[in-house]
Order: sequence, then structure tokens, then C-alpha cells
Amino acid sequence: MVLAGLSRQRSTSPSPTLSVLVVQMSVWFSKRSSSSSYLIGPDAECPKERLKMNLYKRFGLLAAVALLFSLGCATRLSRPESDNAAVETERREQLKLALTLALDRQIRVWRVGNKLRRAGADLCGNDVRYTFGFFALDRQTFSEEYQKAAEDIGLGPRVRIWEVLPEFESSEPELRKNDEIVEIDGNPVSDFKSFEKAMKGPFKVGNLHMNLIRESGERSSVWLKGALACDYRAAVLSEDVVNAFADGQNVFITTGMLRFTESDDELALVLGHEFSHNALGHVKQLKAQSLGGLLLDLAVGVFTGVNTGGIFSQLGRVAFSQEFEADSDYMGLYMAARAGYEIRIAPNFWRRMAVEHPGSIQKNYMATHPSTPERAAALKESVGEIEDKLRHGRPLTPQYK
Ligand SMILES: [Zn+2]
Repeated sequence: MVLAGLSRQRSTSPSPTLSVLVVQMSVWFSKRSSSSSYLIGPDAECPKERLKMNLYKRFGLLAAVALLFSLGCATRLSRPESDNAAVETERREQLKLALTLALDRQIRVWRVGNKLRRAGADLCGNDVRYTFGFFALDRQTFSEEYQKAAEDIGLGPRVRIWEVLPEFESSEPELRKNDEIVEIDGNPVSDFKSFEKAMKGPFKVGNLHMNLIRESGERSSVWLKGALACDYRAAVLSEDVVNAFADGQNVFITTGMLRFTESDDELALVLGHEFSHNALGHVKQLKAQSLGGLLLDLAVGVFTGVNTGGIFSQLGRVAFSQEFEADSDYMGLYMAARAGYEIRIAPNFWRRMAVEHPGSIQKNYMATHPSTPERAAALKESVGEIEDKLRHGRPLTPQYK
């Protein structure tokens, strides 16, 4: 349960974007440098500068020095000074807010993902384990720079319950936020590593006994009954690009995508799609066939359907990928419907995505993903199929070939 977004950065910018930027910058520089008198702009001129402007033309080096000197002509203000202690207090507060926001985002993804993983357990083959509906963490879950902020939000060296889903069966009194875990099935829990080790058994058998210290300091214990779920973690990546992807065992969703999804119903569509990639064995198959380039496209590319230019893939492989994407859209919709999310919003979600990324509207055989009109139209059909099954009380099982 590491908050990946806080501990690692991952670049997903496609190189074409970078080269376009470099070209734009060089055009900008050549325009600007062709007329040195505009380097700082007419507004920066003051009477002394007129003389200096003439010098620019005669002495190139002096011009640069004069330019620096001319910056001294800007009107300065006498501002109140802030002391170092005030800056440090503010820094600590901002780190705390950043950590709280990251944690809230991770909990949102975990909560929606947990519902989908349980609802889709029978679709995930052997990739299943029990889940107990609680999210636990300790201070060490976070990277070094966030240690103080973690303390500020109440985290210490012991593993603590941070969130509990109410729909799980347990003894009374039940597990609560801020309970500290002391022991699981007789195995002592002193840090997150020992917690993960102690959970291996319960993940397999589906029930556990936990000794706790309540927030009041009182010792207590609780029995929990697990529910079978797909064994895929969902982690948040701190990146502004609107994207999500799967690696066969985990799914990753960017903060950009979390901001883009307006409701948990939309988030469920995205997570359902990514869980389906894992459940349908897409990543395993691509790896087995050594389609490294395509994997890269999937990682860079973009849940959004934006064309990466086919740089990493060849046409045949891409056609293959488009089938995978369509299958994941379809199965993801079933997972979302089973978990009780509103699926009628799916076509409109793709319309919103299209408006944001107009490049994805055109049919493109080199793209790894179907175009947004194809996705929206196919999803409309799938929504009809699922609603028909719901109306007739039939099981929500996707049609396999
Ligand atoms: Zn996909």
C-alpha cells in the first residue's frame, strides 16, 4: 500500500511532444535574439538605457552586461520580510496538506477498486485473494520528506487502521479508524513489513483475528470475515497527464485522471477497464509475444486513446491492441454494473474524453486504442446488453467468444 505517487516519479511524456517543444523554443529564441533591443522588451526601457541600446549594436559582450545592469532600473518595493521560522512552519503545513490530499486520493481509488475487485472476483481466474475491507498504514509507508507530515496527521511507527468499509462482516465492537494493530492470528505486528507477512495467511483462508490498541489506549480484539476479490492493487501516480494503465498485477491511475473523473461512477469505468486488462491476461500475452513496443505504448498511452504516432508499435500489433482495449471496455462495464455503479454514463464519459483530446476522435489504424466515437458507440451497445440482463434478472456475465 505504498503511495507510489509520493515515492516515485514516472515520465510518460511521449517524445514527439518533447521535440515539438524543442522546435518551438528554438524558433522563439531565434526571433528574440535577432533584435537585441527587444530582449527585455520596450517596457523595460528607461532614459539611461537609450545610450546603452546604442552600445548593444557595437559591443556584443558589453550589451549583455548592460542588459544585466539595466535590470537594476526596475521599480523596487519595500516588502515585509518573512523569517525562516515562518517559512518552515508554512512548508510543514503544505507538506501535511499534500500528504492528506494524496492519502484521500489513494483511499478513493482503494474504496472504488475494492468494490470492483469483489464484484468481479469470478472474472479474475486464479488471480484472487480475500480482502477484509480495511486500509492500514504506518509512517514508514511514506518517503523520507513526508515523515514529519505523516507524524502531523497522527501516524507513528505502528501500523494503524486508516479506513474501514462498513459492508464487511466482523465481531462487535468492530474495527475502527486509528486502531493500532498489535497481532494478527498470533503473529506480532511491529511495522508494515511484519503486517504484510502476517496478512499472507488470512488473504488465503478468508478470516482473521486481530489484537488491537484502540485510540483510547484500551486493548481489544476483533474477528473479521473476508470477501473474495481480484488480487490487483490500484495505486495513484502523481502526474498531471490524464492516464491509467495496467501491468498485469497492479493498475495505476494518475492524479490527472482522478481530477478528470467527475464521479466515482466514472472512476469505476476507468478502474474496471484496467482490472479487465489484468483479468483477461492481456499484459501476460503481450509479454509472452515480446511485444515490448506495444507495452510501452500501453504505458505511455494512453487510456485516453490519444495516438502516440505508432512509434513503438507496428500496425499488426496495434490492431491486436485495439481488440484488447475493446474487450477491456466491455468487461470493465460489467464489473462496474455488478459493483452497483451507474454505467449509463459510459458513452458520455468518452464524449468528455474526446473533447479533451480531439485527436482521439478520428479513426486511426496506428493508434493503440479504438477512437473515442468507436468506444462510445460500442459502450452504448454494451450498456443496453447489461440493462437487458438486469431487467430479466439474468446473471451479469460477459459473453465470451
Ligand atoms: Zn486499456
